[in-house]
Amino acid sequence: MSPMRYRTAIRSKIRLPFPFRSHLYSSESRIECRSEPRSSFGIAFDIDGVILGGRAPIGGSPQALKKLYGDSGNLKVPFVFLTNGGGIPESRRAAELSEVLGVNILPSQVRFSTFSCSGTKVSNLWLCCLEFMGLRLADGNFGIALFRMQVVQGHTPFRTLLRRYENELIVAVGKGEPALVMSEYGFKKVLSLDEYASYFKDIDPVAQYKMWRTKEALYCSSHLEESVPRYDVYSDRVSAAFVVSDPVDWGRDIQVLCDILRSGGIPGWKNGNQPPLYFAADDLEYQAAFPSQRLGMGAFRIALESIFNRIHHSTLEYVSFGKPNPFVFKNSEALLAEFRPSQYDDHITNSGCSHSHGFRTLYMIGDNPLVDVKGAQQAGHPWFSILTRTGVFKGKDNHKEFPADMVVDTVEEAVDFILKREGTF
Ligand SMILES: [Mg+2]
Repeated sequence: MSPMRYRTAIRSKIRLPFPFRSHLYSSESRIECRSEPRSSFGIAFDIDGVILGGRAPIGGSPQALKKLYGDSGNLKVPFVFLTNGGGIPESRRAAELSEVLGVNILPSQVRFSTFSCSGTKVSNLWLCCLEFMGLRLADGNFGIALFRMQVVQGHTPFRTLLRRYENELIVAVGKGEPALVMSEYGFKKVLSLDEYASYFKDIDPVAQYKMWRTKEALYCSSHLEESVPRYDVYSDRVSAAFVVSDPVDWGRDIQVLCDILRSGGIPGWKNGNQPPLYFAADDLEYQAAFPSQRLGMGAFRIALESIFNRIHHSTLEYVSFGKPNPFVFKNSEALLAEFRPSQYDDHITNSGCSHSHGFRTLYMIGDNPLVDVKGAQQAGHPWFSILTRTGVFKGKDNHKEFPADMVVDTVEEAVDFILKREGTF
């Protein structure tokens, strides 16, 4: 299967194959909450428009989160943050959230496990996906890195592509530190689009008019122009482009991405096969500090796609991760299981609740019907969607196209509802 054909697969409704579920279920490490009540439920919180408005807490989020911890400070209810945002490593985002919200959000921890697909019913599609992700080992078994983290960002699934691009030249696009994000995932030859573009003289014909650029960026840019590229960008093709976070300079980024994608990986060269292009999310709009919604990565994708398809003989091929992709929700089930008290496994087995890592209910609390609610609906059991009115959605009643299972004003109201419903309030 070619990489781009995978787009169809990953955007459709996906059930993880048995080996994923069974192996992740048998996790050997659990969070230290042995003295706290058992939990058959977990919560995934969206961040922008639910927990934070810009950089400030909203909707009583600090108080709401504190209710998920026991008196001893240990986690009582498994929860993760599930955001399409990003641009900084997950560990740093966890530290920032801990400081702003006053609770201890765990940074990411990784361990590697292997499993065999022999003797199990795994579709050819999933075998192709595992191959595509580079998870097949030399002995024919499959290897997968298991992550224990409380912050899942839009670009977090990019780490599953490490084996494919580990030693290939790739570019990382977006605000923050996209190249650092990819480097921390293990990619060895990654350049930010800022740095990459700086090595190509006159690639941005209007750069001199960009008076809005900060002094730091100008210094960095002029410094890079004088330096020798870390990699041979003039003959080494870009193997893939990753849009890690919201692009800052749309005009320049669209220009350079078109150069890379239609030339086959080296700007200025003749037409070649398009390198793979990955987006961390596909949100058309999102709620930030400004009262009305802001254009998101999905809007950038539409702009890039529209232009590329007008200037190139074949249409743009790409893969989008992030919510509402069901893959993200299935992955969150596995992550949440890592935070469940280990004693609960016996209870799950006895109760026959053997699906979805044993959770009876997983709550998705979000502000965007097209992203959070739609994603939870597509993921199906055991997801239960709760829509807040603190972000994108501000309606009096439920959303018409993607109605949530519950609509509340704030995240604190949502948590109170969950704890009461689950009998732990
Ligand atoms: Mg949101």
